Amino acid sequence: MKTSPNQLWKVKDLQAHLNRLYPPHLQEEWDKNGLIVGDLEQPVQKILLAIDPVPETIAQAVEGNYDLLITHHPLFLKGINFISKESHKGRMVHDLIKNDVALLNAHTNADSAERGVAWALAKAVGITGTPFSTKETSETGTPLGLGRIGKLPRPIPLETFAQQVARALPSGPHGIFVGVPTGKDLQMPVETVAVSGGSGDSFLQLAADLGADVYLTADLRHHPAQDHLNSTRTALISGSHWATEWLWLPALANDLELAAQAAGVEIEIDISASVTEPWRLHLPTQG
Ligand SMILES: [Zn+2]
Repeated sequence: MKTSPNQLWKVKDLQAHLNRLYPPHLQEEWDKNGLIVGDLEQPVQKILLAIDPVPETIAQAVEGNYDLLITHHPLFLKGINFISKESHKGRMVHDLIKNDVALLNAHTNADSAERGVAWALAKAVGITGTPFSTKETSETGTPLGLGRIGKLPRPIPLETFAQQVARALPSGPHGIFVGVPTGKDLQMPVETVAVSGGSGDSFLQLAADLGADVYLTADLRHHPAQDHLNSTRTALISGSHWATEWLWLPALANDLELAAQAAGVEIEIDISASVTEPWRLHLPTQG
């Protein structure tokens, strides 16, 4: 049944739509997703989307009179004993409650979902990827997972692919790093591409076993990356955690706007322009 025009959704309606887009059973065991702060019955007119619940994005939500902030990352993953304003997380909770801003998140369930983080990253770099690290299937039987693997239309040099990736990811100081397997160079042809947004070093071996010519993820560390490049034929592209996940936000905005249109509900959705990478400047060292 369609609702009358100008009807407002409540926080609980947005939670239901997130659960539809990113089924809760897809979340990893250690993860937390859902309503972190707020009232399920509160009406929602303005929504802000961001990757991180940090003081900067919470200040934007408060100053912009948003009713709801939807983030990818949870605010708390470990148990806490104090939530006073003495801690930065306590201050965020106080600011949200005092200003009637609810905080909802969708994390690893969104990573794996049909139109989630891995899907958005794959699409942006030119592959229609099939999922890996598959644990679940969608209602239609589509396998889902934290990564995607697929083929480019034709083989291209690694350096050319890396340039495409740099153009596809949102602008930020971190940029991307490119690692070449031992014995190869930047002109090595790449066709099969594996991706996983965020910290994907647990899939290094899987990407190689699946035959990826290049694996795009973020937060790769010295030793695992070095071991990988010395023992496999899969090149590496390590981007920023924020940037490799950010591409999901426009998809989320689009999917929520379509749902609101279909329901005849008025809603304003904005994506935070903040680059919530921890870094502000990247300089190649020259000493
Ligand atoms: Zn993440």
